[in-house]
Amino acid sequence: MATTTLPEAEVEVGKSEAKKSAPQYVYFFGGGKADGHGKMKDELGGKGAGLAEMTNAGLPVPPGFTIQTEACREYMRHGDVSKEVDRQMEEALAKLEALQGQKLGIGETPLLVSVRSGAKFSMPGMMDTILNLGLNDKSVEALAKRSGNSRFAHDSYRRLIQMFGNVVLEIPKAAFDEVFDAKKKQRKKKLDTELTDKDLKEVIAEYKKVVKKHAKRDFPQDANEQLVMARDAVFRSWENDRAKHYRRINNISDELGTAVNVQAMVFGNLGDSSGTGVGFTRNPATGTKEFYGEFLMNAQGEDVVAGIRTPVHISELEKIMPDVYRQLHEITTRLEKHYRDMQDFEFTIQEGKLYMLQTRNGKRTGLAAVRVAIEMVEEGLITKEEAIFRVEPNQLYDFLVPRLDEKRVKVEVLATGLPASPGAAVGQIVFTAEDAVAKAGHGTKKNPVILVRAETTPEDIQGMEVAVGILTSRGGMTSHAAVVTRGMGKCCVAGAGDIQVNEHTQEMRVKGQVFKEGDWISLDGTSGRVIKGKLATVDARPDDPELMKLMSWSEPFRKTGVRANADIPRDAIQARAFGAEGIGLCRTEHMFFGEKKIPHMRAMILADNEKDRRAALKKLLPLQRQDFVGVFRAMDGFPVTIRTLDPPLHEFLPRREELMVDIATLPYATAKDKKSLVAKYRDYGAKNAADLKKVMPALLSRVEQLHEFNPMLGHRGCRLGITYPEITEMQAQAIFEAAVQVAKDGVKVKPEVMIPLTATLKEMANQAAIVRRVADEVFKEKGKSVDYLVGTMIELPRAALVADEIAKEAEFFSFGTNDLTQTTFGFSRDDVNKVLPTYIAEGILKQDPFAVLDREGVGQLIRMATERGRKTRPSLKVGICGEHGGEPSSVEFCYQTGLNYVSCSPFRVLTARLAAAQAAASDLLKVEGGRTK
Ligand code: ADP
Ligand code: MG
Ligand code: MG
Repeated sequence: MATTTLPEAEVEVGKSEAKKSAPQYVYFFGGGKADGHGKMKDELGGKGAGLAEMTNAGLPVPPGFTIQTEACREYMRHGDVSKEVDRQMEEALAKLEALQGQKLGIGETPLLVSVRSGAKFSMPGMMDTILNLGLNDKSVEALAKRSGNSRFAHDSYRRLIQMFGNVVLEIPKAAFDEVFDAKKKQRKKKLDTELTDKDLKEVIAEYKKVVKKHAKRDFPQDANEQLVMARDAVFRSWENDRAKHYRRINNISDELGTAVNVQAMVFGNLGDSSGTGVGFTRNPATGTKEFYGEFLMNAQGEDVVAGIRTPVHISELEKIMPDVYRQLHEITTRLEKHYRDMQDFEFTIQEGKLYMLQTRNGKRTGLAAVRVAIEMVEEGLITKEEAIFRVEPNQLYDFLVPRLDEKRVKVEVLATGLPASPGAAVGQIVFTAEDAVAKAGHGTKKNPVILVRAETTPEDIQGMEVAVGILTSRGGMTSHAAVVTRGMGKCCVAGAGDIQVNEHTQEMRVKGQVFKEGDWISLDGTSGRVIKGKLATVDARPDDPELMKLMSWSEPFRKTGVRANADIPRDAIQARAFGAEGIGLCRTEHMFFGEKKIPHMRAMILADNEKDRRAALKKLLPLQRQDFVGVFRAMDGFPVTIRTLDPPLHEFLPRREELMVDIATLPYATAKDKKSLVAKYRDYGAKNAADLKKVMPALLSRVEQLHEFNPMLGHRGCRLGITYPEITEMQAQAIFEAAVQVAKDGVKVKPEVMIPLTATLKEMANQAAIVRRVADEVFKEKGKSVDYLVGTMIELPRAALVADEIAKEAEFFSFGTNDLTQTTFGFSRDDVNKVLPTYIAEGILKQDPFAVLDREGVGQLIRMATERGRKTRPSLKVGICGEHGGEPSSVEFCYQTGLNYVSCSPFRVLTARLAAAQAAASDLLKVEGGRTK
């Protein structure tokens, strides 16, 4: 055993003396040799490729065969597989029977198999697997006799009927659970393992009735019929809702299809010298190099991850079966070396003998991904260049996740579970995925909810997505809840055994206290603590030394600049700390929302003549200048792009309907009501209750004047600056006075004034002229000048089309991809959610174009505008400042299109830096981003 070596990955594909021209649908593995190998994930799926690779390496893998993904694609197209698939499967089955000296489901020692799904990218728990196939009323007795363990045989049979009934015949799981739980109750037993052989026989009889009732047919006794039905059901499971949903969030193509693995069974439920388990070669939460896993004795398959019994730490195995432990440790260490990545493995022990059932690159948190990558470089396992690709840019977010603030309050720890996924979550309890979805809210009105479950199942996925955190009372570090939340980068505490969760009564009981839906709790996913009440959170420190090291390896490759979108000095300072090289978008309107500023802003909007407007603007000028001074100082040495006023003015005024209600109810208002109305309308001139009668109707008439049916396409952007040039003037004056002021203090300041929403050259010329004139005036008056640029945001298709014209006046372009997506698709960003879910479910759109840049359409406009603009002005600086600036695939597109920089929110700066580095490095090193999926 110890002498086997893993072969180089490129093993010849099994002799494909291509029988006629039919493709090879079925790949055998067993007897120390496999038709396929580890690189054939496209055909064999991840699981099948792993089984082939381990077989070739001489590892103890139960033999079997893999039906490749092409058969699944055929099944999806035609609702059936071709005759050739059936023929090749029969041939492979005969070979397996010969190798094992058994026949499927017949004879004294019947062959039993598992039928396992397995796609190219692992989709944990999303598709289906059936165990113990081949058992029927007759073979179960043969198995009982051969094993000398009748209880075990009947336990295996009831599991088959249950899995087959659920997966193939589509009978709800609950129908079987009811029977099983009733039996336990009747026998006054708590654990599955406490039911006797006789009990299980009764369960089997009941299960058969369940099948008959729901499926209107008997459980199939013919093993070959079972096999064909199971295979097709696994193919169908590729298209189930859970799987589809998982693919959508993980950006996996629907076209791939799954492979099916048919494999001889080994039994972990044969008694106390048998067991089953799962593990990782390193800690998937922290990345620390330690043998990590969980197992259960006398158990089968999913028992470990299902959370029915709480599994035992792998170190216990060393005490129970030292030889098996050592062998497992040795095999998995070699697997990690061979794959050069952390492995996630499954094993079963049958009467003291170890079998390997699966190995794959393990999913991990961002913290773990960075640590594993760095330590593997130090161990000489991978190169620094490879290490860059071992971290998914979005995962860097884990370093920025908040922690609970425990300094100011007394913390009551209710329970401690497993630290399944790091970070902190504070929210209100919900007990079902549906409630999570209903309570979590949408858009800006998000309510933080924590989903509390005994254990999660793939059906909970939508609820898990909207929750801020997940708490389970059962299950281990490899439970569904743990694996899925780590992938989502979401806080999770799993297996908090002291907590009792009752979904029916909607209660959580712990330490003699009862918690109901809506009660607040706080989770610490890094320590596993569950804390009573609503704690505050504190920001994480992003200066982790390991993170810095990884960034220092990736940064030399990066060619695209990364800036931040920041409106106020505090955000600018934060952005610098994350490594932003300037500000790509400073939205001036956000500055106006400050307590001191909003009254002047409102006065400015209410003014119906230029003189009053100028008076109000004059009061805004020093406040605005002060904000710019702060931002310039924070960005010393780096450019700051400041956008002139963009949103429609009515956004600063009260809502029309609200105002109408206030007017209508004024005659009935109490003194107290009036007092609060005065406070509300003070900015608009209400000094006392008597003023309300005049102020509110006047305000309403101004609000009505400003009212627009389509504000996003209305009086906004440069249209404001053109109709009210004094606004642009004031803003330019504030910018340049601030710039000169800080420059005098030695700050290196580089303002870039950005005009929003231009569609024509003349609009650009109009606004640029104002900005340049004011700049000259300020420089002359202050006796000092600074370098600056005037450019535009490209957010309308017309601007992209005439970019060569606009570039005559614009010294830089910045793609405002939120609006550009909106105007290119004609989708309103605020309303698109009425349409988008259907579009994505129907495959009309693959992704939300507001999240991931639409390369085909919007991307084409970006490419065209960049080319045309640079034709006119070769030095044209081009960047992007929409939400897309921090999304890895969009960043990659920006690199490929030759943009000078991307700009994103401060918290995505690290992600954008790594994504930009990966894009350039994969170009240079000609490596395909070898990320773990
Ligand atoms: P998943 O992809 O959801 O992990 P698997 O196909 O790996 O599904 O199988 C589910 C469970 O059944 C796993 O715990 C696996 O180890 C176990 N299993 C699968 N095939 C066999 C087999 N031939 N003998 C024993 N256990 C098996
Ligand atoms: Mg598995
Ligand atoms: Mg815009």
